Amino acid sequence: MEYRKVGKWGLKISEVSLGTWLTFGNQLDLKSTREVVRYAVSNGINFIDTAEAYANGIAESMLGMILKEYRREDLVISTKIFWGGDGPNDKGLSRKHLLEGTWNSLKRLQLDYVDILYCHRPDPEVPMEEVVWTMDQIVRSGLAFYWGTSEWSAEEIERAHQVAKELNCIPPVVEQPQYNLIFKDRVEKEYAPLYEKYGMGLTTWSPLASGVLTGKYLEGIPQGSRLDRWPWLKQVMEERGIFGEETTNKIKRLKQIADDLGVTMSQLSIAWCLKNPHVSSVILGVSSLEQLKENIKAVEVKDKITDEIYKELSSLF
Ligand code: NDP
Repeated sequence: MEYRKVGKWGLKISEVSLGTWLTFGNQLDLKSTREVVRYAVSNGINFIDTAEAYANGIAESMLGMILKEYRREDLVISTKIFWGGDGPNDKGLSRKHLLEGTWNSLKRLQLDYVDILYCHRPDPEVPMEEVVWTMDQIVRSGLAFYWGTSEWSAEEIERAHQVAKELNCIPPVVEQPQYNLIFKDRVEKEYAPLYEKYGMGLTTWSPLASGVLTGKYLEGIPQGSRLDRWPWLKQVMEERGIFGEETTNKIKRLKQIADDLGVTMSQLSIAWCLKNPHVSSVILGVSSLEQLKENIKAVEVKDKITDEIYKELSSLF
């Protein structure tokens, strides 16, 4: 396992990390969650990502119970604030919700601080000054060591830096975007000027496009799979043409390349993300220990991807 710096900043995180969306507190109960975390940590993963919204806080609570087994210094824990409930002040990036959301997350996690706190989405209703000020306060008061953004546009990230400079506040250091073989433009094109300029790190999500890149949906929707359980997500994929003939043929080609290399489609797809030097960590989502055991081997697969294969994979979708 390689440990990468978060952009130019001092924090080091494992190149693959463990996510908790739709799995912790949904598909995984406490016992299986514990097994997954134990396997992850004992195989070199030091970074675990969660959010106040995941399973309505249950993901954080379960993680909090499990984290007691570990020395705090050995782990990097991140959470994300935006969707904290239904009340008018329970969501978004107001000073009130950022602070209350953070305190509530820390209570559920049973931690004094998280290492990274993300603004889970941009909030056009709140002035950037209010967001930057509050995140600065959160970091300076030790509730989080670093702050970041998730799915912000390049323009919004630029604005945050500008405001941080004007107000002498701590700027965001990391963005958490979607990044996989199918959805890659934001990371590769839109953010391109930001990496050098701000030393921005990336912790990327959905490396398998919610499982699509494992090939599991080539013959229909398996019972109990993510797209079976969450019809709204299936609809999103349908709208993006994931089940059309063109994408299906490309996924079949991905399978051929993986077969030729003697690796699985999920290992190859994750390894492709790892080849991007701007990626600090690829966040894995797993609904079983078996999936984690398979996917974590992607760290060994990245050296099998020659320049030629990388080129073909990058232009496949
Ligand atoms: P993926 O795209 O990798 O999807 C993971 C899902 O794919 C699993 O839950 C499982 O679903 C299926 N899968 C994984 N491995 C295999 C395998 N080897 N064989 C067959 N099926 C497999 O990642 P996620 O979308 O889960 O994202 C990862 C993490 O990123 C999240 O847990 C979360 O922490 C973070 N995230 C952040 C977001 C943000 O807005 N900042 C948004 C989304 C995620 P199943 O078995 O149920 O079919």
